[in-house]
Amino acid sequence: MQRSEDLHELVRQLRAELAWARRTGLEDAPMEANDVPVSAPSSSSAVKIAARGLPEIQTELGDCRRCKLAEGRTNIVFGVGNPNAEIMFIGEGPGADEDQMGEPFVGKSGQLLTKIIEGMGLQRSDVYIANVVKCRPPNNRDPEPDEVEACEPFLRAQIESIRPKVIVTLGKWASQTILQDSTPITRMRGNWSRYGDTPVMPTYHPAYLLHNPAEKRPVWEDMKAVLAFLGRSVPQRGQS
Ligand code: SF4
Repeated sequence: MQRSEDLHELVRQLRAELAWARRTGLEDAPMEANDVPVSAPSSSSAVKIAARGLPEIQTELGDCRRCKLAEGRTNIVFGVGNPNAEIMFIGEGPGADEDQMGEPFVGKSGQLLTKIIEGMGLQRSDVYIANVVKCRPPNNRDPEPDEVEACEPFLRAQIESIRPKVIVTLGKWASQTILQDSTPITRMRGNWSRYGDTPVMPTYHPAYLLHNPAEKRPVWEDMKAVLAFLGRSVPQRGQS
């Protein structure tokens, strides 16, 4: 009798997995990071950065002029944080403050990201923060495909060096670009996906939260899912 029940349960699980495999959208994605669609790690670029450590990657990047974003930048914004971070936050590209400081997420939205990280019981120095492109796009426009293609190999090398357990993509553009998925961020956020082998949790960009504070709650739900996945306890008061 027990064997029959076990078989029934096995068939039920297989059916569920097959149903998932047939899906192409993310709207019904499960909240298990081991059972999620895989995004190529990726991009269309065939460029491969050989360097392993972050200092070597930064040295290889050098005074980069591989795309036209070099023309208007003040500083290259390489990334900042723990080279062995469990969590890596990835945004779109530097804004004006970041361009001046040479560090990602230091303006108003960056301060909110810092509060979110602290709400998770962590410090900025515990995580790693980077952007898809490392130079500020003029007038804060979205980066263009050739710019992503030129810059993403360095982000990929950073991910391969840090080997985070979770990537959190911030906002529509970064999430859609990293995951190569045009699903609206309203449906994408909160659903696990993957960048290569790395689980990815897409969520809203802190700049969006500045104008839509009611959306802090779903972001906090996303961060709780990240903490739960990592086996970390969830602080009682996480919202900023
Ligand atoms: S955006 Fe990236 S590829 Fe383009 S110039 Fe800056 S560092 Fe180089």
